[in-house]
Amino acid sequence: MKMAPFAYRCPDSLSEAIEALCEPGAKALAGGQSLLPLMAFRLVRPALLVDITRIDGLDSIELGGSSASIGATATHRSVELHPRLGLALPLLRAGLERVGHVAIRNWGTVGGSLAHADPAAEWPALALALDGEVIVTGPGGQRIVAAEAFFKDWMETDLRPGEMVTMLKVRVPGEGAGWGFEELARREGDFALAGAAVVLETEGDRISSARVAMLGVSLMPVRAHNVEAALLEGPADVARVRDASHHVNDDIAPIDDQHAPAWYKSRVARIMLERALLQALSRSAK
Ligand SMILES: Cc1cc2nc3c(=O)[nH]c(=O)nc-3n(C[C@H](O)[C@H](O)[C@H](O)COP(=O)(O)OP(=O)(O)OC[C@H]3O[C@@H](n4cnc5c(N)ncnc54)[C@H](O)[C@@H]3O)c2cc1C
Repeated sequence: MKMAPFAYRCPDSLSEAIEALCEPGAKALAGGQSLLPLMAFRLVRPALLVDITRIDGLDSIELGGSSASIGATATHRSVELHPRLGLALPLLRAGLERVGHVAIRNWGTVGGSLAHADPAAEWPALALALDGEVIVTGPGGQRIVAAEAFFKDWMETDLRPGEMVTMLKVRVPGEGAGWGFEELARREGDFALAGAAVVLETEGDRISSARVAMLGVSLMPVRAHNVEAALLEGPADVARVRDASHHVNDDIAPIDDQHAPAWYKSRVARIMLERALLQALSRSAK
């Protein structure tokens, strides 16, 4: 099927892009890896595509002491291969290596993935695990939205009319923090059936802080608060981690779909989580 006709604009400033996005039927175009297939199937029919990839500086990647700022049009691949970011945030690299294939990662962008908000996508879960803040800009100026508040429902975000994602800010975990990432997909490059991204910090023999995010097992990416609470309850050991992973079913709500039944995703979710937690525990300084 051919795409429905649309107008195209390619502004080189953020203000022009916002102005264009306020026009009726306008949609941002970034890497096109999700939007263009939807348009080809006529599942979405924007009247105007606003190509945001030429906006100067919107693809910047900056690493400060305790945080990293990643511009909305930075591609998955540019983040994955960024040498300093890879060292400071190995969890990001591990997650991004699982996004589709290299060709997709060369085009797809951070902002596009967050705005598209596929519950099985890696970026949203990574943003949750890394205490992310989504910076959005629109006709009313700039807002900072905690990643947890940004994802509202199935492929629905907190973005208001005319707004676009301009940056993702994530926290660089403290020295000695451990991280883990695991997911299961039917084939290499497919979206995950279930996955987990984890950051653990320990103090002595206890887990002092835990951030656990699950992908593919609810209508949106979720923080596993019940698992996190269980992790803080006792000594930081393998038994604690295994026990805590069983709480994940109180945090997720998988649904049956063409890829797998809900009961199967629940089981996979727990196993992926246990593996990610064990990785994080073994990497954390005790
Ligand atoms: C075969 C295939 C396999 C894939 N596998 C995976 C996978 O395993 N994991 C995964 O996470 N993703 C996967 N993807 C999706 C890919 O990661 C996309 O890059 C991503 O979902 C969207 O990013 P994009 O830059 O291409 O956005 P686009 O396709 O350009 O846009 C997607 C949506 O976001 C909006 N948008 C884009 N940028 C912004 C912005 N800055 N502000 C506001 N709205 C914006 C658009 O209007 C549109 O609604 C796959 C894609 C394909 C084609």
